[in-house]
Amino acid sequence: MKLVFATGNKGKLREASEILGPEYELMSPAQFGITEEIPETGETLEENSIQKAEYIYARTGADCFADDTGLEVDCLNWAPGVYTARYAGEHCSFDDNMEKLLSEMAALGPDVPRTARFRSVITLILNGEKHCFEGCVEGKIALQRSGAKGFGYDPVFIPEGFGGKTFAEIPEEEKNAVSHRGRALRAMVAWLAR
Ligand code: IMP
Repeated sequence: MKLVFATGNKGKLREASEILGPEYELMSPAQFGITEEIPETGETLEENSIQKAEYIYARTGADCFADDTGLEVDCLNWAPGVYTARYAGEHCSFDDNMEKLLSEMAALGPDVPRTARFRSVITLILNGEKHCFEGCVEGKIALQRSGAKGFGYDPVFIPEGFGGKTFAEIPEEEKNAVSHRGRALRAMVAWLAR
């Protein structure tokens, strides 16, 4: 089965191909001449993933899916949430975002609960019909960055069950086995194989 994945991120395409397996051929928007940034102006992860999937479907007419991810930090009232990619401003770096997160939490004092989760929502459009899938990984925000693997907030996110290591300190396959996006992708695959 052919599916277009609404992302320009090669790492995400590779990860999704591994999880979906050889029965699925994943295509990128660029293969359809779509090279512009796909708009995401919704107020929730669900709205954004639907918006991105609909954008691709309207231009390709092909079965497709899109994902949107947010980091929800309990003591920050679930921020940065839908603003995770641009927490420190439009076009900011991963470093800027982590810096802002650590300083906002430091400002709340040493005893603040550090629990947080990554949540991914995937919208699949199959034969013109939308289906949403969700994946979550619980954890907490470290006091400082550790590790050099991964991307985004990985150096400050400590997933449950890894002895206090951050996502940036554990191998990619182990991260993918528990990650928000991995879980949402596997939920989609299970539904497709039903
Ligand atoms: P997106 O919706 O997948 O583009 O993710 C939005 C933002 O969440 C990214 O720009 C990253 O900052 C962050 N993010 C998403 N997935 C991960 C992850 O697996 N590790 C760390 N940060 C992530």
